[in-house]
Amino acid sequence: MPKILIVECMQEISSFNPLPSEYENFNVTRDNGLFVQRGLNTAIGGALAVFEARANVSVVPTYGARAGSAGLLSARGWRRLSQELLDAVAARRDGIDAVYASLHGAMGAEGELDPEGYLLTNIREMVGPGVPIVISLDLHGILTERMVRQVDGLVIYHTYPHVDFADTGRRAAQLLLAILDRGLKPVITRVVIPALVRGDELITKSGCYGDLIREAQHLERSGAALAAGIMIGNPFTDVPELCSQVLLVTAREDDVMKREAVRLAQSFWAQRHRMQGKLIPLARAVEQAKFMTGPLIFTDAADATSSGATGDSNAVLRALRDGGYRGRALAQIVDPVAAAAAHEAGVGATITVRLGGCHDKRRFQPMEVTATVESLSRGRARLETMRIGLDAGPTAVLTFDNLTVVVMSRSVSLFDRAMYYASGLDPKTFDLIVVKSPHTEYHMYEQWAEKNFNVDAPGATSANLPSLGHTVCARPAFPLDAEAVFEPHPVVFRR
Ligand SMILES: [Zn+2]
Repeated sequence: MPKILIVECMQEISSFNPLPSEYENFNVTRDNGLFVQRGLNTAIGGALAVFEARANVSVVPTYGARAGSAGLLSARGWRRLSQELLDAVAARRDGIDAVYASLHGAMGAEGELDPEGYLLTNIREMVGPGVPIVISLDLHGILTERMVRQVDGLVIYHTYPHVDFADTGRRAAQLLLAILDRGLKPVITRVVIPALVRGDELITKSGCYGDLIREAQHLERSGAALAAGIMIGNPFTDVPELCSQVLLVTAREDDVMKREAVRLAQSFWAQRHRMQGKLIPLARAVEQAKFMTGPLIFTDAADATSSGATGDSNAVLRALRDGGYRGRALAQIVDPVAAAAAHEAGVGATITVRLGGCHDKRRFQPMEVTATVESLSRGRARLETMRIGLDAGPTAVLTFDNLTVVVMSRSVSLFDRAMYYASGLDPKTFDLIVVKSPHTEYHMYEQWAEKNFNVDAPGATSANLPSLGHTVCARPAFPLDAEAVFEPHPVVFRR
């Protein structure tokens, strides 16, 4: 009876967010706690469905850790997290026949810019060279050479926005079982592309990236490859091996597949200009908005908390005020000090606070406002899409001039309308709505809006990639460096 050890460690960080994340950001589960994911749309959930359908497989759960997107993990947090995870694996490694690790790939910690590589190296040392290890990764992950050298196979998300979490786990589990059943020694072919990408063309349903993914899926489904995918990295995770890359896993070294990997990489490179954020300068958007009836959406991808930004940007609020916009505008901001002041003062009170710039002090200057406290809450909500609970801490709705602002104590995902609804606000009743997200779902906003402006504001997750100030990642890289060129070199890894 094969014993399969499972482990999970997932976080995506933005190196440009100055607020470090901590161990406490992680939701940690131990041992049988991982079985809570049975039936859920997570990679572990999908993998469990495959493993547990086989009577002769025994699953050995060890440790799971998941955190929302945020800043670089502190050295202290990383020490504790990695130690706990590796201790949990060490405690249950005896007699293990295989390992499945569900990873994101875009972690980063103070003093360790390749956390996943560190974990996999240590797990490999513990289980020995003969035990197959298969991993699953977010397409925004950064697969490093250290990682790829430890694994026998890997499987990558095929959708953005991501909906195929469980499907990815299923595919990883099937690959691992195929390795065990058929004694496969898979070969991983990798082509690195020195390009960072962003913007609407990455939406797999409609964008050109999706066309390339469908070709990779075809290779996988036809059986030509055991697994195929195109990782784009997270452009905000400024680590040495940040890049885009084509990955094909095959049963043996295969020249046809090697050429396919190169062809996909060349096609990706050829479309790199299309796969960039199309942004309008903020002041120009405000000028246009003044003469439009609305409702208008200002999508602020630069302060997208779901991508790892601080959420404390007041750049759009300031531009609306300074630009003389007169319509009724609705926005959200993370500012624990202003939220506390509102809770202290109570509903109906008038308070003067310095709004914004509490975390990212380099990018945002606090903005003094005298506001009315309209309502107060504990900041609890549930994401419209994934039904995951949000906890923004003490939250207040402040109004000043023509602006209504939901002020939260903690950063939570703001890509849907959950926090607006939970604060008793219907975006449809405003003239202009700010959405801190890389994209908005059509039915949530665009469907009833006159126009959606993708504004070019400062922030730790700006789609204006050259504005971020990368200092660590390999250069030259498009679009950071005009001289970046692509010469495809397929590299084959086998264990
Ligand atoms: Zn992702």
